[in-house]
Amino acid sequence: MRLELDGDRRRFREWVREFAAAVVAPQAADVDSRHRFPEESIRGAGELGLMGLLVPPEYGGAGRDHLDFVVCVEELARACASTAVIVDVHASVATEPILFFGTAEQRRRWLPSLARGEVLGAFALTEPQSGSDAAALRTRAERRGDGWVLRGTKVFITNVGRAGLYVVFARTGGERAAGISAFLVPGDAPGMRVGQVFDKMGLNGSPTGELVLEEVALGPDALLGEEGKGFQVAMRALDSGRIGISGQALGIAAAALEAGLQLPCAAEQGSSFELADMATRLEAGRLLARHAAWLCDRGLPFTREASMAKLFCTDTAMDVASGVLALAPQATEGSVLERCFRDAKALQIYEGSNQIQRMVIARRLLGERSRVSG
Ligand SMILES: Cc1cc2nc3c(=O)[nH]c(=O)nc-3n(C[C@H](O)[C@H](O)[C@H](O)COP(=O)(O)OP(=O)(O)OC[C@H]3O[C@@H](n4cnc5c(N)ncnc54)[C@H](O)[C@@H]3O)c2cc1C
Repeated sequence: MRLELDGDRRRFREWVREFAAAVVAPQAADVDSRHRFPEESIRGAGELGLMGLLVPPEYGGAGRDHLDFVVCVEELARACASTAVIVDVHASVATEPILFFGTAEQRRRWLPSLARGEVLGAFALTEPQSGSDAAALRTRAERRGDGWVLRGTKVFITNVGRAGLYVVFARTGGERAAGISAFLVPGDAPGMRVGQVFDKMGLNGSPTGELVLEEVALGPDALLGEEGKGFQVAMRALDSGRIGISGQALGIAAAALEAGLQLPCAAEQGSSFELADMATRLEAGRLLARHAAWLCDRGLPFTREASMAKLFCTDTAMDVASGVLALAPQATEGSVLERCFRDAKALQIYEGSNQIQRMVIARRLLGERSRVSG
């Protein structure tokens, strides 16, 4: 297994880095302070093919793999973590379910415009009473004729109000996970509206809010995957989504570390040892994330490794941002460091909180132990 980047991947990284430095980074402070959507960056990402990085060329995508994806999201997040999460959610949890579970017609209808970034995607699983315990969701989908009617409320939805397509999870019957189905809901579907948009402490350029489904009538072609198998759609999407979030965390940690290396105290032994520890954790995180991506790209089991990467990289981002801030008490509001610190927090929460990642890892470890001893 090769986890160092070969020539082609290094060139890809340099290419994304140049785009991020030229287009994304100059907007980042303004995007953050004015809580505005990074229009220029997302348009540019679409033009470069980054929105469809994981989509095969036959659907107009770049056909790159998850190893490139994690590199891409890291580079974007180094420049602007808001831009990175918008691209990440779009390209992974909103687009990949269609690749994995969509019919030929659903793929033809949605993937080319998602890949070009003309349609932005969103993933709507969380509800007011069901976050970590996603199987407790209450949004209902009832049959009407040969189609469906959806009613319910989703919260904390990234890309809300901007998305032209929402992957929505709703209960079609049954209890817990067994009764959940996935649906493709166009952003302009009558009966669906944006509720409260949250004023977060970080990731201010990435809209996060409520999605209210009052009586959303959909055709039969809206069902994604089999009826009652939506929970598997969500979990599969989140497995590879966590690789992208690891990349986002690495980018925040790298930006904070770079800011730390510029500090006047950086060369003093106490500070330099702390920076050395941070750099070591950053590199270890890269290896975890690339390992998970490598397994995913080969069709090997990677759920545990993706959770390990997400847990380690997001804790590293928070710790590095906080650690460098401790060396730079003069860091002002609006500085890169202050933004990294505020942006890092949400990563420990979304796509499964880090407590949930520990549960995923522990369950697999214990399952393996019982298989060995059984
Ligand atoms: C910025 C942001 C963007 C988001 N984007 C999206 C999105 O695009 N789509 C989407 O569907 N959701 C999204 N979310 C929602 C996110 O996935 C949930 O917030 C997360 O899953 C936690 O759910 P919760 O907030 O309901 O907290 P809860 O599930 O109520 O958890 C509260 C606390 O209890 C802990 N906890 C819960 N259960 C256990 C347990 N069994 N054992 C130990 N500890 C536990 C959690 O770790 C957490 O610390 C986003 C959230 C944020 C903050």
